[in-house]
Amino acid sequence: MTQLVWLRNDLRITDHPAFEQALNLSTANSPVAAVHIATPRQWQQHNESPAKCGLRAALLQQLHRQLAARGVTLHLLETDTFTGCQDTLAELCKTLGCSDVHWLEESPLHERQRDTHTAAFLQENGIRCHIQPTDQIVSATVLNQQNQPYKVFTPFYKRWRELLLQSDTTPRATFNEADISSVSDIPLPHWAGDYRSDLWPADTESIHRQMHRFCQSKMASYGNLRDIPSQPATSQISPYLALGAIGPRELLNAMQLSAWGADHWLESDWLRELAWRDFYRQLLIHFPRVNTHKAFRPDTEQIRWQQNDTHWNAWCQGLTGFPIIDAAMRQLQQTGWMHNRLRMLTASFLSKLLFQDWRKGEAFFMQHLLDGDFAANNGGWQWSASVGCDAAPYFRVFNPIRQSEKFDPEGTFIRRFLPELASLDDKSIHNPGSEQRQSCGYPEAIIDYSAARQYAIEVFKQL
Ligand SMILES: Cc1cc2nc3c(=O)[nH]c(=O)nc-3n(C[C@H](O)[C@H](O)[C@H](O)COP(=O)(O)OP(=O)(O)OC[C@H]3O[C@@H](n4cnc5c(N)ncnc54)[C@H](O)[C@@H]3O)c2cc1C
Repeated sequence: MTQLVWLRNDLRITDHPAFEQALNLSTANSPVAAVHIATPRQWQQHNESPAKCGLRAALLQQLHRQLAARGVTLHLLETDTFTGCQDTLAELCKTLGCSDVHWLEESPLHERQRDTHTAAFLQENGIRCHIQPTDQIVSATVLNQQNQPYKVFTPFYKRWRELLLQSDTTPRATFNEADISSVSDIPLPHWAGDYRSDLWPADTESIHRQMHRFCQSKMASYGNLRDIPSQPATSQISPYLALGAIGPRELLNAMQLSAWGADHWLESDWLRELAWRDFYRQLLIHFPRVNTHKAFRPDTEQIRWQQNDTHWNAWCQGLTGFPIIDAAMRQLQQTGWMHNRLRMLTASFLSKLLFQDWRKGEAFFMQHLLDGDFAANNGGWQWSASVGCDAAPYFRVFNPIRQSEKFDPEGTFIRRFLPELASLDDKSIHNPGSEQRQSCGYPEAIIDYSAARQYAIEVFKQL
């Protein structure tokens, strides 16, 4: 009787608790098989970007080769939406003669509903379901002394670290080494979109090399450089985490084994950022309303956001006349990724200064990000728009020009993505004069910062 592993956003064979358990239960008469069920219409409804679907297809290709080399078949199936998963899976179980299905939990509501229905359906059909905790560094639920979920990150982080020290975070042993060179490729699925494969390789070796290189040579300076968008100072591992090509325990392990990390990992800024990922995932579970296009703070639902298509299009296209904002939006369009400081600035710009509904920006990010992750993206947007849990205070409205001067002082990042401004001096590049704009073919600023800021503060004050 086959032990079947259902892969979703955990596209790897290393540090994989579901594979670990399936392998433990397998015998000569009970082999391991794997399945991935594509749900293109569901992904579209969730605004998943073509780029992310492209990377997903490339990771599945790699996974197929890795598994085939180890004698495990990866079944690639498709159904429109999550609703179809239970029948698709049950049929495969019947064909394979499968007794047990293994998978990792996921945090968003739709995914959890899909899993509850599927587990009930399979169990009714006599198939055992083994559900392992979600892909987090600390998989335990982090609760305060009153057994309540945290709404503020700092105390969450304190408790999270305590639990981390009590947990076994050793990456899970799964498969032995194998040579994949003789395994042939599978055809590219119709739902795979284009993405910058030159920037984001999909093979495990490159992904692990990137992780180790960051831990060995960049983690020590991360705290000082992580806000400078022109620097490759962050790990850029997010697309792989979003699709589970790397496991969070593998990151922790690489951190602990690195020269600087061996003594400093527990106090490192990088660990703290990784904890934000767990925090936002847990919020989805404890506060279901945030899964349903609702703000964490119900009072902010009264806000009447502005509808201005000209402003919206300018923001989307990187034509707002604020160089740092436009450079950031073009980084997103051109690479499928955006630096964290710039995600905060562009999100604050749309929601506070253009005063447009943060949900539109949230969807736009998902439609373009290679690392689109519902929990982190929703959390980041709610934080930036001051409508979320432990969000930016409403009177904090980033000044895009001051932020640009502070975090891109020589305009290095702006020059990279706005070549039309490359000839400007280090001072004017943050806010060119009218003549400079004209000669560079760059638009005037679409809003007056001070007036827009004042408006946002007044609206929030009245809530
Ligand atoms: C408006 C907005 C939208 C965002 N949307 C996403 C998204 O769709 N997907 C996504 O993975 N992250 C998102 N983030 C969080 C963060 O910007 C990215 O995780 C980070 O820029 C990825 O780059 P990195 O891998 O180099 O991160 P590093 O700085 O190297 O951090 C390592 C990992 O920690 C996690 N992480 C770091 N910062 C955060 C954070 N603030 N919140 C949650 N997790 C974090 C990520 O998994 C990241 O890959 C968003 C932030 C904002 C403000």
